Formats: sequence, C-alpha cells, structure tokens
Amino acid sequence: MTLEEIDKSFVLHTYGRNYTNFVRGVGSTLYDEKGDDYIDFASGIAVNAVGHGNPRLTDAICEQVRNIIHISNLQVIEPQAKLAQKMVELSGYDMAVFFGNSGAEANEGAIKIARKYGETKFENKRYKVITLEHSFHGRTITTVKATGQESFHTPHFSPYPDGFSYEKSIEDVYSAIDDETVAVLIELVQGEGGVEPFPKADIQALAKHLQEKGILLIVDEVQTGVYRTGEFLACNLYEIEPDIVTLAKGLGGGVPIGAVMTKHKDIFVPGDHGSTFGGNYLSTTAGLAVLDILSELYESGALHENMLYFEGKLHELYEKYPNLFTKDVGLGLMRGIRAKDGETLGKILKAAMEHRVIILKAGRNTVRLLPSLTITKEEIDEGFVRFDAALATIA
Ligand SMILES: *Cc1c(COP(=O)(O)O)cnc(C)c1O
Repeated sequence: MTLEEIDKSFVLHTYGRNYTNFVRGVGSTLYDEKGDDYIDFASGIAVNAVGHGNPRLTDAICEQVRNIIHISNLQVIEPQAKLAQKMVELSGYDMAVFFGNSGAEANEGAIKIARKYGETKFENKRYKVITLEHSFHGRTITTVKATGQESFHTPHFSPYPDGFSYEKSIEDVYSAIDDETVAVLIELVQGEGGVEPFPKADIQALAKHLQEKGILLIVDEVQTGVYRTGEFLACNLYEIEPDIVTLAKGLGGGVPIGAVMTKHKDIFVPGDHGSTFGGNYLSTTAGLAVLDILSELYESGALHENMLYFEGKLHELYEKYPNLFTKDVGLGLMRGIRAKDGETLGKILKAAMEHRVIILKAGRNTVRLLPSLTITKEEIDEGFVRFDAALATIA
C-alpha cells in the first residue's frame, strides 16, 4: 500500500489532505521524500513559531524527554510553574494560568471560568456568552457552538449547549447584552474568518463598556498570541485589560499545549477543572524554550524588523497583481491577501504548492500567511520569488 492508501484506509476522513510527504524540516524550509525543498509560509497553522528543528527548542525538549516526560498534576511541576510565571510577566497582566493541550481545551476552560463567575457574582446565575460572526473557537461540542459560523452547527452533533449567540459586528454586541450575559468572547484578528483585524478604538471602547458592566472580556489568542502580531499578546498591542486570555498554537513550538490565563485568580478551587496531560514536563519545557527564544528576538528588535520585511514583500506582490487581489489585511506575521473570489483562491493555493511554497486559506477567499517568527530574510525572499512565479501562471 502507498502512504496515501494507508492514510485513507486507516485514518478518519476529517481533513481535505495534500499528500506531499515531508520528511525533514530546517528553519522555514521543508523537504519531501524526493529531497525537493518547500518554503514554509504556514508554519503548521501558526504552530511552529520558532521554525523546524530549532536547536534551542529541540535541545531543551530532548534533554527533558530523556529525563521526565510526565508526572501528574497531583505533583508540582517545575517547568509548568516557571512557564506560568513567564507568561504572566510577559503579558504584563496580574493573572494566573491553567494548562491544557489545545486551543479548544483552552476555550473550554475560559467558558467554565465565565460560567462559574456568572454563578458566583450574579444572583440570577448569568451564563450567556456573546461571540462574533466569522469567529472560530474550536471543535469540541461547546467551542463549535461558540464559533459564529452556522455551517459549524450542523444537526449531526446536536443538541449543543445553550447560551451562545453571535453578532455581526462589535457595534452590535452592545445591544445584544442582556441581564443574563456573563461574557463576550472575541478574537482581535479573526484567523479563520479572513485575517481582518478589528479597529483598536472599537476594541478599547468595548473593553471599557464591558468592564463598567461587570461583564467578562475573553480574548481568544490561540492564533494571535505568542508574538504573532508583534507583541506577546494581541491584547498588549490593543492596550486592553482582558479578564481571560486563551493561548495554544505557537506556545509549544509544535508540542501540544493550550493555556487559559485569567485575572480572576481564585475562581477555581480543586476539583473544578483539570487535565491529565495539561502542563506536563514535555509541553511546558517546550513552552519555556519558545518564550525564551521569542522574547529575546522581540527585545532585540529583530522580530519587528522581520515583520516589516515580510509585510513589505507581501504588499509589493499584492500591488503587482491587482487583477487577483482586492485587499491586504493582517497584523505582524498574521497576514492575508483577499483574492477576488473563491475560485481564484483555489487556483492560487494549487499553483503555490506546485511552485513549492506552502500557504493557507482563510474564510472564503483569503490567502493566509503565518510564517514562523524566526523565518530568515533569505527564506522570505525565496518564498516570495516562488509565490510570485505561482501567481504569474494565473494572472
Ligand atoms: C486554531 C484555533 C482554535 C482551536 O485550536 P485547537 O488547538 O485546534 O483546538 C481556537 N481558536 C482560534 C482563534 C484558533 O485559531
């Protein structure tokens, strides 16, 4: 059997899959089994924040794995405590952290915090959570229901939990709030929804309004977090004080990890929440190494420089093909260029793969680029040469 046949026979069919078999990765370059190189502008959907085979990350992981991979959360776990401390320090918020294993699990934790807050702070047990249309919050039954896309709420998996509603815009959130609303859950740049950042002033006004009303602001930073937008959190860039922040994708550099941070540090008591694997030695050692690497890159100014370089290159390309694209969007190294329609997007994705540069889609018609934060200028240059050649075959 070929690898494709084995995969199709034994793995459940949940993904529209490409069958290029990558066997090696160095920085932002991937090699398939024939030895052909691909420039990686996707970084595993914003996961490989420090690239492939990063020596500082892999050394830290290997050293940890040779010793202890896992001991339960019934014991103190040194790298977990240190990672929580580092995350809180980098965020600048007075918060505490719970660790899980994925973005959806982080958002589940956030919703549990909100529900308990609603129960303990309001006489009428507030429980409703408002989210936005085109949002994406995960694939568990609850986070799929929190996701503001009707197509995700298929009757296959119903009934879903109550208490979620979706608004078209930030402006509409104000009038949607009622006396059962406990929280508003938003992404500051909707990743899956089209990479469109919300205006800073709108988010600041909403944050202020919610604070006055005693309603929690939950920011889903599963994709925007860990320096993706240029600051440790997009919340830092937007200069807001959220109640709850969720993280995952980039935090472990490829090792599964999710986290929920909140300023309501005493909301949970033992027994309220838990996770067998969450915050174990492996994932939190990886998280510490990732944050060491990225906080240094940030402090040195190199991260910012890299972002501007990538953005400049992308903008050039966008301007070169006005017949293909209608808008360029995004922040930091979370970028998109909107294709004129879905059919054009399909052609672009196919041509890019043929020209050996890995890109992503978002929403119906956006090309999404989420390169590793440690991508080099040479890799950026080479990636854009290939992307340009791919676009030239369509334009
Ligand atoms: C990817 C993503 C999730 C889900 O994360 P998983 O690790 O796949 O569960 C949730 N929210 C946002 C904003 C995401 O980008």
